[in-house]
Amino acid sequence: MSADARRAIVRVAHSIHCRGLTHGRTGNLAVRDGERVLVTPTGVSLADVDADQLSVVALDGAHLEGPPPTKEAFLHVAMLRVRPDANAVVHTHSVHAAAVSCLSDIDADNPIPPLTAYYGMRVGTLRMLPYYAPGDPAATGAVEDAARVTHALLLRNHGPVVAGVDLDTAVDALEELEHTAQLFFLTRGLATSPLTSAQLHAFATPSGRNPS
Ligand SMILES: [Zn+2]
Repeated sequence: MSADARRAIVRVAHSIHCRGLTHGRTGNLAVRDGERVLVTPTGVSLADVDADQLSVVALDGAHLEGPPPTKEAFLHVAMLRVRPDANAVVHTHSVHAAAVSCLSDIDADNPIPPLTAYYGMRVGTLRMLPYYAPGDPAATGAVEDAARVTHALLLRNHGPVVAGVDLDTAVDALEELEHTAQLFFLTRGLATSPLTSAQLHAFATPSGRNPS
């Protein structure tokens, strides 16, 4: 497994933890390496992730090497299986996106309005999945179906899962999602002017974004 991928996971894990996108031992990251996937281990804070203590799993989720993987590794491999354009996945319980996932009155096909251009560019389409207990592999089919439509998912009562061409791209999109979720709450109940479909479609489709 590439030493560069290991270093990238450690760098990004520490960065997103330091910036408050994860808390406690929540959050996990994965990077594709051919038919194998490097993923953060179970029971370890992203603040403490070590390059020599990462897990290696197969695309079917089987544990191949290293410590036991996060119990949410199946989310990562499900996205990587159906999105050949994606090479990395990041999942957090970041607070504003998680808060959106707890609302009862939102559209699962459009949980957060496209309030800014950067949301349109980096997230584009967001799909919210039904509730599954954390680590429940029964979510696999729903994750695969939604990931065929978009690289940005929101697990109900849980948090976002975002794929990208590389780890930095995935984290950029997740951070934009979190920021826009915060804007959504700041403007909730106020008259807003989200981007129109024409404005959204004006963006070039970068790799790792939606196939449509
Ligand atoms: Zn989680």
